Amino acid sequence: MGDLRKDYVLDKFVIVPRSTENREWNIKLDASCPYCPGNESMTEPASIALVAKDGMLQRLSDTEENIVCDWCVRVFQSDLPAVSTNSSHIYSDKPLYSEPAYGYHHILVASPDHDKKLSEISVDQWANVLLVIQDRVRWLYTQKSVTYVSVYVDSGDKAGASIAHPHLNIVTFSAIPPQIEIEAEASHRYMNENGSCPACSIISIESGGPRQILGTDNYLSFSPWAPTYPYEFWIYPKRHTTAFSKITQKEMTDLALILRATLGGMSKALKEAPFNLVFHFAPEKKNSRQIHWHIEIYPQLHSWSGLERGFGVYVNNVRPEKAAEVLGSACRRELAGLVGIT
Ligand SMILES: [Zn+2]
Ligand SMILES: [Zn+2]
Ligand SMILES: [Zn+2]
Repeated sequence: MGDLRKDYVLDKFVIVPRSTENREWNIKLDASCPYCPGNESMTEPASIALVAKDGMLQRLSDTEENIVCDWCVRVFQSDLPAVSTNSSHIYSDKPLYSEPAYGYHHILVASPDHDKKLSEISVDQWANVLLVIQDRVRWLYTQKSVTYVSVYVDSGDKAGASIAHPHLNIVTFSAIPPQIEIEAEASHRYMNENGSCPACSIISIESGGPRQILGTDNYLSFSPWAPTYPYEFWIYPKRHTTAFSKITQKEMTDLALILRATLGGMSKALKEAPFNLVFHFAPEKKNSRQIHWHIEIYPQLHSWSGLERGFGVYVNNVRPEKAAEVLGSACRRELAGLVGIT
């Protein structure tokens, strides 16, 4: 499979295909969607197929003889994986450092309904999705060479999605990804200097302030002070917590509610703009630096210029206070609708 190359000197990794590999980055699909019910045989077998029956959830998986039908959430290996467990053992040294891009790349199909967006599925269905993420994260951390489990959504062509059917990606790495390393390092430094977690301080600064979007019992959603993208927003657990795999059932249900309400509000306010959503979990391996886990959502409304690409200076034409006002009213309306219905 692919190689993970590191920059000559910078801490940046890039996954490139092997020279022998004819990898098509832009897959062209025929009319049928491999993630739709009825097309299960077009994907790898499901490691989890969650089936709701008589008000109970059954956690099943495909076998050679039997493919599970009538699932509400389905997880299987990606057929265009960023990383793979079949990688051969080819390494090279600095400054041309390369290692096998080793890991698991799973697809989590979030609804059997092709046309239901993540901003439209029910709160209960979001809770099912989160339950399955928690299950997979726990399992993946027991596997060899899994140092970090990343979970993310690409929604819309411009956000990198090749398939429209609502789904999430779960990708593991044998090293901690650079962005998590940067956040964990900064958080560690802040804690040493101030004796408290930076995220906990941010939550107390942003609660009830001009950048707050929505607050629930356990979570706060807000536009960050210095957002990279217009209308970017974050969701943080209010309680200091580093392990997503240990959050309680009640916190899970509440997370489903705030995710559904904010994505629904964003989708209406920004006319279904493409977006990326990333779960920034703390690394769960022993001795690794921890972060207060959170979710970041990046709407993709315009392309970057040379300033962003070449200098790392971001120009954001929407003040986060304005973004919070727009998203806040849309998300509060969405939440009222959801709570009213359920
Ligand atoms: Zn589909
Ligand atoms: Zn904290
Ligand atoms: Zn983060």
